[in-house]
Amino acid sequence: MASGVSPEEIVLSEGEVLALARAFLMAHGLGEAQADAMARTLCAAQRDGCTSHGLQRLPGTLDTLAHPAFNRHADPRPEAVTPAVIRVDADYGFSILAAERGLPLLIDSARTLGVALLAVNNGFHSTALWPVVEEIATHGLAALSMNPTHDWVAPAGGTRGALGTNPIAFAWPRPGRPPYVFDFATSAGARAEIAQRRQRGETLPPGWGLDAQGRPSTDPAAVLAGSMLPFGGHKGSALATMVELLAGPFIGDRTSRQSAAFDGGVKAAPCHGELIVAFNPAILAAATGDSEAAAEDLFARITAQGARLPGDRRYAARAAARRTGIRVPKALYERIRSLTPPQT
Ligand code: NDP
Repeated sequence: MASGVSPEEIVLSEGEVLALARAFLMAHGLGEAQADAMARTLCAAQRDGCTSHGLQRLPGTLDTLAHPAFNRHADPRPEAVTPAVIRVDADYGFSILAAERGLPLLIDSARTLGVALLAVNNGFHSTALWPVVEEIATHGLAALSMNPTHDWVAPAGGTRGALGTNPIAFAWPRPGRPPYVFDFATSAGARAEIAQRRQRGETLPPGWGLDAQGRPSTDPAAVLAGSMLPFGGHKGSALATMVELLAGPFIGDRTSRQSAAFDGGVKAAPCHGELIVAFNPAILAAATGDSEAAAEDLFARITAQGARLPGDRRYAARAAARRTGIRVPKALYERIRSLTPPQT
């Protein structure tokens, strides 16, 4: 039994978590390929201690499945638009399957051309971004990923939502070690985190949001009804705008405002595009020296000061889960089981 497991938790193996998520999704009519892709991503987040994007997302997928446009049997096929530009239409299923299917072409193209991009269109998106960039980096490539959400976030200096929570994830490959990976929303807090704090009866740090009248608020319920704020003032606001442009108009998909309009009050996961770019660090470095050593030196200078690298907490949680199992709140486990109709 894992140490520190509370009486409110149970411990499952990776296989059991996968089976739990897969059974739930398939019992609600999701095609096998989509159910597998979603189950893998939610399981990875639960395993790595990213619980806001783990199994607690599962009950909420029912709202997404209820969207009139949602396609339970989407079968996304990647196409090369140019040698460096790959597009995959998620066909109104979950984005993650489309992204996964586009990766082999993206990786091959980036290896040969030095840089390539994958545009995922028309996908319902509710998962963390790091699993995809981490996967790309295990192939020796750097990777960047971003997407809009709904226009919940007011621009710095504004009073109402105009931008999405617009996450950005980045990964850099490391020899003999897991990649350097960061992944966060450009809002001061992720919406799921604000919802979790509301559930726990906690207040928000100042600067996370505004109430419906555009006044600063630390009440999660007021901020969820009003608007969130970007991190870092005008800097986060500009980064969120960049995400909106590159993962919206650039790839011919919805902005966060259009995504919210498309939802039509169903409260499904936002349906929009995602931009994934892969870079081959070996192409230019071959002419200029050893970039691998320079990158490792940079990481060592960060950690030598006692600072940690993003991703390291996650890798430690993963190692612990592989030793002792994945912790799942009992109440969540029971809820998922009770929402899983027996298959005939
Ligand atoms: P956080 O503010 O919690 O930041 C998480 C990132 O910062 C991780 O890479 C984490 O690494 C790293 N980190 C945290 N603390 C430190 C530290 N002290 N030193 C160094 N690195 C640190 O993230 P958010 O709450 O903004 O986002 C959480 C998740 O929500 C993301 O995975 C994101 O993809 C997801 N999200 C998804 C959306 C979607 O559209 N699907 C929308 C918005 C968010 P580590 O993991 O190792 O702790």
